[in-house]
Amino acid sequence: MAEAEIGVIGGTGLYQMEQLADVEEVRLSTPFGDPSDAFIVGTLAGRRVAFLPRHGRGHTMSPSEINYRANIYAMKMLGVEWIIASSACGSFKEELSPGTIVLIDQFYDRTTARGDRKTFFEGGIVTHVQFADPICAFLSDLLYGAAQQVGARVVRGGTYLNMEGPAFSTRAESLVHKAWGIDVIGMTNLFEARLAREAEIHMATLALVTDYDCWHESHDDVDIEMVIRTVNENAEMFRRIVIEAVGRIPAEPVEDICSTALATAIFTRPEHIPVEARKRLEAITGKYLK
Ligand SMILES: [Zn+2]
Repeated sequence: MAEAEIGVIGGTGLYQMEQLADVEEVRLSTPFGDPSDAFIVGTLAGRRVAFLPRHGRGHTMSPSEINYRANIYAMKMLGVEWIIASSACGSFKEELSPGTIVLIDQFYDRTTARGDRKTFFEGGIVTHVQFADPICAFLSDLLYGAAQQVGARVVRGGTYLNMEGPAFSTRAESLVHKAWGIDVIGMTNLFEARLAREAEIHMATLALVTDYDCWHESHDDVDIEMVIRTVNENAEMFRRIVIEAVGRIPAEPVEDICSTALATAIFTRPEHIPVEARKRLEAITGKYLK
């Protein structure tokens, strides 16, 4: 099977990465179902990179329909240790204007309908991973340096509110979220971060600001045409940052809270873990459950 060290998840407006060389298309099945699309595995800056369009390359899946578990599990099957994700977002801060890239470092969950997508661990095996700092600080710092290098308008730190969607916010919701001090709003990324932590993959996100949600009095309310126009510009900048960042990612394993998340998190006593659960989670827990 094709292998990759680095995973890239493309969000709205990011359905391919033409810069990958020696590409092969890899279609995977996981114990959690099928990923959003085939992975495009190729070489970038001398490293093997696996690109996945989160919504499918034709944008056929809504945020509530995406099989986040299959997407992250398949990354693990490919050998991915680092994930760089993009997420198109609305902004609650005047200074985070459209075109700004926010290296988010926190999440707030306001989803209502994704109970079965939250964890890999169920059916006889229970874990509670540390998630106080949900984004890999090492990778986020590295991306910040890369973003500065390529001239992006980039801000370090911010809270991402994950709404259910697919409709955008009402004005009342937007004003409440703004009053809470949230920085950006999106519909997808929290689940990837949670599952990446459970899979011991370093993950960081570039939140690409496309609009001001609908709180801003002197800007038009968010509409899909405006989102798409800005996202296309953001997508180009995202690609430039990824190209710059990939070459900076260490080839040697980095030990931190991400890569050791399960070391003390599996609460179920080994003798009580069903064989079937061990099999289902082999790519993730294999090294702990001999
Ligand atoms: Zn990390």
